[in-house]
Amino acid sequence: MTTSRTTDRRLAGAADKLLFTPGPLTTSRTTKQAMLRDLGSRDVEFIDIVREVRKGLLEIGQCASTHEAILMQGSGTFGIESVVSSAIPKGGKLLVVVNGAYGKRIVRMAEIHGIERVVQTYGEDALADVAAIEAALAKDAAITHVAMVHSETTTGLVNPIEQVGRVVRAAKRIFIVDAMSSFGAIPIDVDRSAIDYLVSSANKCIEGVPGFSFVIARREPLVASEGGARSLSLDLHAQWKGLENDGQFRFTPPTHAILAFHQALKELADEGGPAARGARYRACQQKLTSGMQAIGFSAYLPPGLQGPVITTFRYPAHPRFAFDAFYEKLSRRGFAIYPGKLTHADCFRIGTIGRIFEGDVVNLLAAIRDVLAELGVDSASPG
Ligand SMILES: *Cc1c(COP(=O)(O)O)cnc(C)c1O
Repeated sequence: MTTSRTTDRRLAGAADKLLFTPGPLTTSRTTKQAMLRDLGSRDVEFIDIVREVRKGLLEIGQCASTHEAILMQGSGTFGIESVVSSAIPKGGKLLVVVNGAYGKRIVRMAEIHGIERVVQTYGEDALADVAAIEAALAKDAAITHVAMVHSETTTGLVNPIEQVGRVVRAAKRIFIVDAMSSFGAIPIDVDRSAIDYLVSSANKCIEGVPGFSFVIARREPLVASEGGARSLSLDLHAQWKGLENDGQFRFTPPTHAILAFHQALKELADEGGPAARGARYRACQQKLTSGMQAIGFSAYLPPGLQGPVITTFRYPAHPRFAFDAFYEKLSRRGFAIYPGKLTHADCFRIGTIGRIFEGDVVNLLAAIRDVLAELGVDSASPG
């Protein structure tokens, strides 16, 4: 593994940093190589690949008999906005559960599209409360849809979507899940979790390259949503119909990104599927957290809420610690980390998603120790 990894890096270009970020992510050399072709949008081979990709996504979600997979051009946000702006009919009302920046983004979409909404807000270090969601649905009969984020990449927290799904289904409402940074690494039984619309994107846990998002939609509400879109390009039902009718996209498809994704799906299966990939991310996340704690950093989330894809660390209280310098010096050593996104605490984030292995984490930790010494932060007494 170490040898192929080194070769992988060398061929990728020694100048490429390892991306310990929430995206774009480090991808395998073979995934990048799969893009070295030019296929036309009507090419039979391309159309077959699109079909295989859509089938592969339903297999990962274990929901081929109940759901449809729809690819949508653009980053993950485009996929979420496609669902929010297409699936909620005029007169519908959306309950958004918020415990981070990505939940807030869904609220913003509803505002822009003039969708009536109610927001249930939690602290960024607090799980969504299933009983409170159940109570909100019982109290307000006008709510037709519920949206929440599975893995809140703002902090790394993982929300209890299965339990929430159960109460949403029991209350006969439609459940929309942003599974951007979980699908492919945290096993999700889409039908059993009562998810009607799941959204993720090419360059998260499946480790493709950026360029499109995908929606896994329950057939019934999808069919019923026909004609309800508030935008032309993000019309989910029309996109689905296009793919179903002649296998083509309505507008220029991200051909290269789909070729890379097709290869990335094979590599996910070779690794052993979502459970095995999640185990790799989890092992990296644990190695990272224990190493950071040994250096003196403290994680923002309690371990019980911490997911495998990204970890938020508090700035150390040391007066010589400055995030920009810390970031720059790590970057010069070949490691990209990520700033924080919290409202109330000074933090930075380190991702363990993408083509990252435990050995890479060990190297990152060594670089962090060096950089702290260079900054004169002897022991990072946590703040
Ligand atoms: C990455 C991510 C998104 C989408 O972000 P894009 O920059 O549009 O790809 C949405 N939600 C979550 C939880 C994410 O991690």
